[in-house]
Amino acid sequence: MSSTVPAYAAPAEGAPLVPTTIQRRDVGPRDVRIDVTYAGICHSDIHTVQGDWGPQTYPLTPGHEIFGHVAEVGSEVTTHQVGDRVGVGCMVNSCGECRNCVRGEQQFCLEGAVFTYGDTDRDGTITQGGYATSVVVDAGFVLSVPEGIDAEQAAPLLCAGVTTYNPLKHWGAGPGKQVAVVGLGGLGHMAVKLAHAMGAEVTVLSQSLKKQEDGLALGADHYYATSDPATFETLAGRFDIIINTVSADLDIPAFVGLLDIGGAMSNVGAAPNPMSVSSGQLAGHKSVTGSLIGGIPVTQEMLDFCAAHGIGAEVEVIPADKINEAYERVLASDVRYRFVIDATTLG
Ligand code: NAP
Ligand code: ZN
Repeated sequence: MSSTVPAYAAPAEGAPLVPTTIQRRDVGPRDVRIDVTYAGICHSDIHTVQGDWGPQTYPLTPGHEIFGHVAEVGSEVTTHQVGDRVGVGCMVNSCGECRNCVRGEQQFCLEGAVFTYGDTDRDGTITQGGYATSVVVDAGFVLSVPEGIDAEQAAPLLCAGVTTYNPLKHWGAGPGKQVAVVGLGGLGHMAVKLAHAMGAEVTVLSQSLKKQEDGLALGADHYYATSDPATFETLAGRFDIIINTVSADLDIPAFVGLLDIGGAMSNVGAAPNPMSVSSGQLAGHKSVTGSLIGGIPVTQEMLDFCAAHGIGAEVEVIPADKINEAYERVLASDVRYRFVIDATTLG
């Protein structure tokens, strides 16, 4: 038994998304059914349907930045009630018992976390994401979205927000720390807002100065163009933390040169090729590291932090028939700063 709901899906690798319907399972004892209000468009959705991350099962409905309201809860669910404002991010299940699940790092579940779309669910079906009017998700993977965050600004927090909050927190962003954010897109603009709210001094490193005014308004203290070689001389040895959100290959050693002694460059952007950096370039206890979204506890902490600091994403709300155009604009770095699909236009 299941229900049929309107959605958008890629029918094949690299093909434009089209309106369709998908199946959602009936609500089990531990499930929550959510009526989706907004779904963010993450660059990862585009990587996935373009085949950058290997073959997928099609048709595929992307979307892992989901905001909506609880429509139905299973008999054993005590954490959410009908009508609650909730969100779902990149994961919808995990074993719940392994070392990593127990410590709240479900994205590293040793049995394999179940990701929100294109993954094999525990019942053997392929998960379908949030570009749909409703989702059914295990209650443990449903986040509470505090009232203080606007509905349309909340969806992107579920991926872009936690993906940048997590390494900023891990590496100690706060007063007295110099943080650089590379790439001012969906993740980058959240990194700027969050690092600023944490009390750090924030520098944007963008390809050009085109978005300088926006970057400063978002909370950055400084803004430099990476196309200008002088940037790398001026800022040499400056940063405690660099958050690299760029979806393309970068000259990593050039950015490592911007780290202070003991500084860390956390790469959250999914560059296509492995990075190369020599031990000499890392001298001074510099780290080149990575981070993957965040577990459920840190995701809830991030949402509460955003509500407390009045932070939401900067969004451009689009109807579903503009999804393919939005993909083109993301690929052209023409996004300010997250596209969010109005779910009422899906079917
Ligand atoms: P996005 O909105 O497209 O932002 C990426 C930004 O990178 C662009 O706005 C642009 O900023 C910069 N950029 C793009 N192409 C570039 C190039 N060739 N050279 C230098 N800079 C370039 O994408 P997003 O949604 O923020 O996602 C960014 C990346 O993070 C993607 O690869 C995505 O898959 C990945 N991701 C990872 C995680 C994780 O858990 N680790 C989670 C979500 C997403 P400027 O115009 O300012 O230069
Ligand atoms: Zn994402």
